[in-house]
This record gives sequence, C-alpha cells and structure tokens, in this order.
Amino acid sequence: TAPIHVIGGGLAGSEAAWQIAERGHAVVLHEMRPLRGTDAHQTDGLAELVCSNSFRSDDANGNAVGLLHQEMRSLGSLIMRVGDAHQVPAGGALAVDRDGFSQSVTRALEAHPNITLAREEVDGLPPAAWERVIVATGPLTSPALAAAIGELTGAESLAFFDAIAPIVHRDSIDIGKAWFQSRYDKAGPGGTGADYINCPLDREQYDAFIAALIAGEKTSFKEWEASTPYFDGCLPIEVMAERGPETLRHGPMKPVGLTNPHNPTVKACAIVQLRQDNALGTLYNMVGFQTKLRHAEQVRVFRTIPGLENAEFARLGGLHRNTYLDSPRLLDATLRLKAEPRLRFAGQITGCEGYVESAAIGLMAGRFAVAEAEGRALPPLPQTTALGALIAHITGGHIEAEDAGAPRSFQPMNVNFGLFPPLAQAPRNETGRRLRGPEKAALKKRAMTDRARADLAGWIAAP
Ligand code: FAD
Repeated sequence: TAPIHVIGGGLAGSEAAWQIAERGHAVVLHEMRPLRGTDAHQTDGLAELVCSNSFRSDDANGNAVGLLHQEMRSLGSLIMRVGDAHQVPAGGALAVDRDGFSQSVTRALEAHPNITLAREEVDGLPPAAWERVIVATGPLTSPALAAAIGELTGAESLAFFDAIAPIVHRDSIDIGKAWFQSRYDKAGPGGTGADYINCPLDREQYDAFIAALIAGEKTSFKEWEASTPYFDGCLPIEVMAERGPETLRHGPMKPVGLTNPHNPTVKACAIVQLRQDNALGTLYNMVGFQTKLRHAEQVRVFRTIPGLENAEFARLGGLHRNTYLDSPRLLDATLRLKAEPRLRFAGQITGCEGYVESAAIGLMAGRFAVAEAEGRALPPLPQTTALGALIAHITGGHIEAEDAGAPRSFQPMNVNFGLFPPLAQAPRNETGRRLRGPEKAALKKRAMTDRARADLAGWIAAP
C-alpha cells in the first residue's frame, strides 16, 4: 500500500511517524533541516527541544499535563519513552537531557524498517500522488509551505502570531464583586444578554493598575519576531497604557453600557470584561488583554482587579511568532482538513501549545491515519481524558461555544483541567463534609484524573 507521508520531524511528526510505523505501515518522514533551518532550531536532530528542556509536571493525579504523560505512555508514545530514558533531576517535573533525547528519537526513527527519512523541504502543497499526508511543520513552518496552506484555507484562517489574552478558571472569579452582563444587555445569537463577566475599577484602582502595567517587567521580542509585519492589530495592553493613562478606559476597559448590581449608583471608572472561552463554560478570557508582561507580573497585577483577587489562570497572556490554523473551523474530528481531507494536521500548527501537547496530537494523528488506511473508524476519544480534551479544544469546542452565543477567537492552549467536562458531583472526603480551598481543588483533580483513567481504559478496550 502507498506510504503515509509526514511533513516535519519535530515533536508531533516524530511521534506520528512512530505510531504509524509501529502499526505496520510504511511512512516517509520529510524534514527540511539541515538543508533549511528555522529561526529557533539549532541542530539537525529530530524532535529538537527549541527552548526549555522540561515536559512540565509528571504528576498524573493532580496535573493535566502529568495525566497526558501517563495517557501517552499507555498508548506506546516514543516521545515519552525516550523522555523517560533521558530524564534529568527536576523535582516533580519531567525534564530531559535535550541532546540525548533528540539523538535517541532520531536513531529510533532512522532504525525503524517502516520509516524512510527524507531530508527535504516540502515547499508547496504535497504532490497529488501522496494519498495520505500529516502536516506537522510546527510554529515555524517554512514560508513556502505556509503560503500554500494559507491559499488553501484562506489567509484569515492561518495566523502567524498568537496574541493571547489571559484565561481564567471561572470558579476562581469572585461573583460577589463581579457580575454577568453584556454591554447594553445585547444578546447575540444564542446569547442571554449576560454573556460577560465584568470587574469594576474605581479611579484609584484604575490609576494604580495603569502604573503597575507601565512599571511591570516585560519579555522582549526576539529580533526575528520584532521584524514580522503581522501584528499591528493586537497591541499589548501595556503599550496602550504607555500611549496615555486614559487610553485603556477608552479601549478594552471602557465602562459604558454596564451597571454594577453590587453598587448601581456609582459609575465605574473602568471595567475589565471576561468572555466565555469554552463550550463547557469553565474558562473565561480577559477581553483585549494580550500582553508581554512577564508571567509572574501578570498574576500579581491582574489579581489587583476587583473580583480577580484569587484568580487562577489556565493560561497567561503573550505574543509570539506562531503559525497556526483556525482548526475548529477547518479540521474535522480526526484532524483532517475539511477542504482537502487527504491532508491531516498535527502538532502546534493545530493550535495546541507545548512539546507534550504537540507530540500528543501527533500520536492521535498517526493513529487516525492508520485507521483510515485500514478502512476502520476509531471510536471518538472521551473528552474526559487529557487526549480527548485537547482534541475537543482543537476540533470543536469553540464552535460549539460560538453557537451558544459567545463569539471568540481560537487561541493556542496548553492542556488544563478547564478543558475537561466538570465532574457530575462535587468531590467529598470520607466524612462527607463540604470542602473548601486547596483540599477541594486537590480532590477535584484526583476525581478528574481517576475518571480519565477509567474512560481511557474503556476506549483502549473498545473493539
Ligand atoms: P516542531 O517541533 O517545530 O517541528 C516542526 C518541524 O517541521 C521542524 O523540525 C521543522 O524543521 C520542520 N519543517 C517546517 N517546515 C517544513 C517544510 N516545509 N518541510 C519539511 N520540514 C519542515 N513548548 C514548550 O513546551 N516549552 C518551551 O519551552 C517552548 N519554547 C518555545 C520556543 C519557541 C521560540 C517556539 C517557536 C516554540 C516553543 N514552544 C515551547 C512551543 C512548541 O511546543 C514547540 O515549538 C514544539 O516543538 C512544537 O512541536 P511541533 O512538532 O508542532 O513543531
């Protein structure tokens, strides 16, 4: 049978090629390095870690990425097996010796009898003769291929920067201070007129907030990022604040069309709005709050906003060079491009974020491609598993939420418990006492990870 082509030998492409080859199918893995480099890669090794050497928490009972590690191990992941073999001490995190890791992945793929490694750039749409293709070319996809993909998807569906506003866990927002209301009570299609969470600032709080934004420590752009023309429309809030102290309260923080039910007679000086970010309603993004403040500074400064004093962030804001698709619109449930189903996408280009998440989507893309080549359909992954939650985020969650009346833009995201369906019942300890604070959070995570393990086992056992 015809080989399956995988373009890009990074975290996702390496894992996808391995999964396909291990199931007895021929793979051609196309990697452009060292013939053509990227702005971040330094070597010609496959699965090169371009920045940190950490796969983050390895705690499968209390952490979503730790759970993802465990799920990938149970599905025979090459990236996890080699990561475990090259572990370096890092407390509860799984960190790896980056060179040893990349060299071992490269050797394993080169030695596999079903894999052919082609060191070449695919510089346009893959030839029509390639029946099944996985595109895993990452956040720094080569310009020629990116242009060809953009032509196929429409330029507005392929982003070259992520301008990310922080995302907050809904249950950490204090509704005793904040309130639900849409500006002028406008109900969009399917909306209720109370689709946003609003956090009010008085003059003193606003002035202190602006001062903190301007003084806060920022991350700087890499030279190659700063020279990219794509990012005029998404100014960081601290840049807006520098343009004048009133700029933000006439922009994303404008206080008009909203009345604070906790204090109806006093007009707020500024209001921060948060908009539902996922269909489950567990995550809310801070509207217009893209920022290059350092992460610790974001937590400190944003927790000065009334209602967000105890905010837990599912992700913090940022602006990075990042090529990715508007996947919920473009891809089907098995990661195929609806407009050209022989092309399947995997890795960060689908809008996941992180080494482990990219490899996880590579793993699933490989398995979907094999099932398709064998004329089988894989049963859908339960969204209660880390793998299923990630796939749902990429392929559907935001469209469902939009249908429910909450328009938003799709932004890359690490795996986190906010992507999982809430528990049917609040967890209790043995005494049946109502729980609070850290004890409640720990039990909730434990219950979610137990549920994930049971559901993944069911999925693996399904015929
Ligand atoms: P990649 O690992 O980048 O793999 C894509 C591969 O495709 C590359 O080998 C590339 O050479 C090849 N390629 C591209 N175009 C073509 C083409 N046309 N033909 C053939 N081959 C091609 N995540 C973290 O978890 N931790 C971090 O610290 C971290 N730091 C990052 C720093 C930077 C500067 C960037 C850009 C991203 C970072 N990420 C980080 C995010 C992300 O997890 C990694 O980029 C990850 O490597 C993505 O995996 P991938 O397989 O999708 O892409």
